[in-house]
Amino acid sequence: DKLIKIVDLEKHYNGGKIKALDGVTVDIDKGDVMVVIGPSGSGKSTFLRSLNLLEEPTGGAIIFDDVDITKKKYKDKNGKWVKVNMDLHRQKMGMVFQHFNLFPHMTIMENMILAPVKVKNVPEEEAKKKALELLKRVGLEDRANSYPIQLSGGQKQRIAIVRALMMEPEVMLFDEPTSALDPEMVGEVLDVMKQLAAEGMTMVVVTHEMGFAREVGNRVLFMADGKLLEQGTPSEVFEHP
Ligand code: ADP
Ligand code: ADP
Repeated sequence: DKLIKIVDLEKHYNGGKIKALDGVTVDIDKGDVMVVIGPSGSGKSTFLRSLNLLEEPTGGAIIFDDVDITKKKYKDKNGKWVKVNMDLHRQKMGMVFQHFNLFPHMTIMENMILAPVKVKNVPEEEAKKKALELLKRVGLEDRANSYPIQLSGGQKQRIAIVRALMMEPEVMLFDEPTSALDPEMVGEVLDVMKQLAAEGMTMVVVTHEMGFAREVGNRVLFMADGKLLEQGTPSEVFEHP
């Protein structure tokens, strides 16, 4: 079941001198756990940020739910031009960054309910109830009134994941979610991601955690110089001659 179709995606800088993405074509199916690997500077982060429209591609197409989201508008069934609702599109994508991106002056609960209440107009009480359920899932319900600075890196990243889930995204994007963590905290974050994958969440994960790629990923993309050099199942990509 195709969810996102990426066709010949390009992101060039400096009039084409830097090709951060150089013709990437790949489909993402519902329930895929797609792990993106490759050397530093190969375009992994640009790929992820393009899906979320944090970057505007310079060429190619991203077809999500039958709409090319890289265009500002699309033709509907009746041949009428309709504007793409970028905000609505972004809401379908939860993003987790290397550096948590929690608001430091807000409690964990305030961080959790901010987007649902402000952007989706979810009633505050309902959002709080949902936040507590999600915090419970990651064992942090007793930290609802703490501030981010009072938490460990691993705790902050678990919060960042459930905060993204508050918006009920169709896809979760992870950009090196464990790279900034002390080694002893990596496991607790990967466990939450594993649990999400087991529940069928569609995920695109940029990571250097090869154990996670092998055990949890069902597809691995290997990037180099803005190109997709290889893609396949973990065993195809890792055990090839
Ligand atoms: P990765 O995530 O694999 O480390 P990136 O997607 O961050 O790679 O970067 C891919 C390439 O694009 C790199 O050569 C990087 O320097 C370049 N790049 C990224 N952002 C910009 C930018 N804003 N301007 C110019 N070059 C950029
Ligand atoms: P990451 O840690 O995700 O690989 P980088 O350190 O490569 O990030 O880049 C950090 C920021 O700098 C990004 O916003 C990226 O777009 C920008 N950037 C990266 N490379 C360049 C470049 N060569 N010229 C201008 N901006 C760049």
